[in-house]
Amino acid sequence: MSDGFDYDLVIVGAGVGGHGAALHAVSCGLKTAIIEAADMGGTCVNRGCIPSKALLAASGRVRELRDAHHLKSLGIQLGSVAFDREAIADHANNLVAKIQGDLTNSLKRLGVDIIRGWGKIAGIQKVSVTTDSGEKTITAKDIILSPGSIPFVPPGIEVDGKTVFTSDQGVKLEWLPDWVAIVGSGYIGLEFSDVYSALGSEITMIEALDQLMPGFDRDIAKLAERVLITGRDIETYVGIYAKRVIPGSPVVIELADFKTKQDVGVIEVDACLVATGRIPATQNLGLESVGVELDRRNFIPVNDSMAVLSAGEVVPHLWAIGDANGKMMLAHAASAQGIIAVENIRGQHKEVDYHSIPAAAFTHPEISYVGMTEAAAKEKGSALGFAVAVAKSYFKGNSKALAEGEADGMAKVVYRKDTGEVLGVHIFGIHASDLIHEASAAIANRQSVHSLAHLVHAHPTLSEVLDEAYKRAIAS
Ligand SMILES: Cc1cc2nc3c(=O)[nH]c(=O)nc-3n(C[C@H](O)[C@H](O)[C@H](O)COP(=O)(O)OP(=O)(O)OC[C@H]3O[C@@H](n4cnc5c(N)ncnc54)[C@H](O)[C@@H]3O)c2cc1C
Repeated sequence: MSDGFDYDLVIVGAGVGGHGAALHAVSCGLKTAIIEAADMGGTCVNRGCIPSKALLAASGRVRELRDAHHLKSLGIQLGSVAFDREAIADHANNLVAKIQGDLTNSLKRLGVDIIRGWGKIAGIQKVSVTTDSGEKTITAKDIILSPGSIPFVPPGIEVDGKTVFTSDQGVKLEWLPDWVAIVGSGYIGLEFSDVYSALGSEITMIEALDQLMPGFDRDIAKLAERVLITGRDIETYVGIYAKRVIPGSPVVIELADFKTKQDVGVIEVDACLVATGRIPATQNLGLESVGVELDRRNFIPVNDSMAVLSAGEVVPHLWAIGDANGKMMLAHAASAQGIIAVENIRGQHKEVDYHSIPAAAFTHPEISYVGMTEAAAKEKGSALGFAVAVAKSYFKGNSKALAEGEADGMAKVVYRKDTGEVLGVHIFGIHASDLIHEASAAIANRQSVHSLAHLVHAHPTLSEVLDEAYKRAIAS
């Protein structure tokens, strides 16, 4: 017991953020408890990364094995390829159960106390927990909030969980609609579009902003759109939003122009997936008891050490990590923040280097990136007075990609013209999610294209795509 407290550290929320923080806390010798109100493992394990990647793995195989033209180019002929929707769904559900069990066991094995119930701040260094058997208050020297996020459903869209649903229900793949509308072209919309198109559904994608894939680097988005959307005959509405979505059979979607708000028509589909982003799960956390106000988008305000702020000042012994602080809503960012919070709790001043944290969309082929887009780098460059340059290389010039018959793709390196420092790397192509880590390490170490261009990459590997981009950068 630490200084008369029940625990050194209490963590509210056992998603990947809370789990990462707990593992690190225990390895630092802190007596730790974690409070979870619903599913151990949170969004990533139960409704996010894990089931979606299982669906993408299975449906990706179906796409590959049904691509007679591609197989023929490799000298392979197959008869018809069938799949069992329920068995694919089971693959995802079984993986969720396994990883949830592994995560829970890892906490137990290391001696983390797991408390099932709703956790709430009850004052400085106090948490109240509402469990099945009533309410109790526990004290902790430090508290980390890691309550995560939930899907955002825009006004006018009615979710019934069956015909109109979010990713929470979508990952269950309970049925396969003939025609599905996907509202939103961010990474969740794109991944579901990959799954549904591979399994034979017709897709209509609705994007309110004036371009598809608005969060991605423009060059990458343009190429990815050509392969993942246009190349798959996916119907798109861009600059148009789903003003009303009414569940049923059919699902009725009223469309309107996003800028003028004028009605532009009605479509009827079998199902509608709402993939319009996520909002923090930060209600009813008792933050008012320590004088903390949420920001205007309901995120918990934190500094780069993950300390919670009240009117810009650090609230002692209170930390917030993961999707709930809105800094970077990704699983590995949540657990990295958990580790940083624990480091600061033990007096080591550390901050998260968001610039070097990679992100990926696990479509076929994949999209990945780290650091700044070209547009963001140029904006920064003109503010700080440096010029930005770009080098590109293509999968069609890579022997390994050609051997695989998977030559669609590009790598783009964004760097400072004066120093050569890499500012961002964007990849679209086979195994992009694995390739990005070399660039991520380069950015973390503030390396320049001049030194990177002299590293030796094994031949023939996909990693030579980046090698080529670095070499083109120093040749230009
Ligand atoms: C379909 C989909 C696919 C995704 N794919 C990827 C991917 O491939 N890679 C990636 O990096 N990210 C992915 N993400 C995002 C990723 O899932 C999240 O960034 C990550 O789960 C955030 O972790 P977290 O710990 O902050 O919150 P969460 O995982 O949301 O966990 C929070 C936990 O806190 C619990 N909780 C909340 N309030 C309380 C309370 N008061 N008391 C007790 N418990 C509470 C909740 O029940 C929940 O279990 C995906 C998300 C979705 C929806």
